Amino acid sequence: MGVPLYQSEAFVLRTYQLGDTDQIVVFFTRDFGKLRAVARRSHSPRRHSASYCQPLMLLRTILFGRPAQALYRINTVDIVQPFRVLHEDFEYLRCGLYMTELLDVTTHEREPMPDLFELFQLSLEQLTHMTNPALLLRRFELRLLEIMGYTPQVFYCARCAGQLRAHERTFNPILGGLVCSACAPEVRHSLTISPATRAYLCAVIERDATAAPTVVLDAASQQELEKLLHLHLIARLGRELKSYAFLQL
Ligand SMILES: [Zn+2]
Repeated sequence: MGVPLYQSEAFVLRTYQLGDTDQIVVFFTRDFGKLRAVARRSHSPRRHSASYCQPLMLLRTILFGRPAQALYRINTVDIVQPFRVLHEDFEYLRCGLYMTELLDVTTHEREPMPDLFELFQLSLEQLTHMTNPALLLRRFELRLLEIMGYTPQVFYCARCAGQLRAHERTFNPILGGLVCSACAPEVRHSLTISPATRAYLCAVIERDATAAPTVVLDAASQQELEKLLHLHLIARLGRELKSYAFLQL
């Protein structure tokens, strides 16, 4: 019986060195989820070229290995969509790498997440012509949270589940949503958000998070939304994101 082949479109999440000559490439494949593969640098033929194995490129990969194996081998890697613009502009690059890290920390080995794959691909395409990439990141975060089942609660109190009223704007990242005015004094580490931020959050969550929202946010509310979603995300993930610091530069 031959060794099975795994053929799929994929993005590289990250790479790291293994010894002097080899490299481990962590792929997020459309059909098989996250897979790790060894790229042998010393005697790689052209198609294995390490330069192909970079984040922020849509690749077509053929990997092979036994089903339960932790490390696969690379048969071929071809570039389907290079997203050149993202590699040439520092602003786009850091946004793209941040989304890549979010994808990495929310996915598991051999667990296909086709919705997440499509969201990531669509978001990279949108990023290449964004004048305000920050808002694209917020929509990416919200849609990713929705796919993971971690959408912030904005219609019902995250503590008592009572229906929220429009003037209630206390967000608690640990509970994962807005809390009503009766619960607000009972919880710690909350943020009071502006009416605009609240309206934006409700609008994006109610509609498809990838669609352009109709609520306009001023710079202060954008910062508030960024902070809120960041705290909400790290409370769900239980860890900080390394690339987040680069977004603050
Ligand atoms: Zn409550």
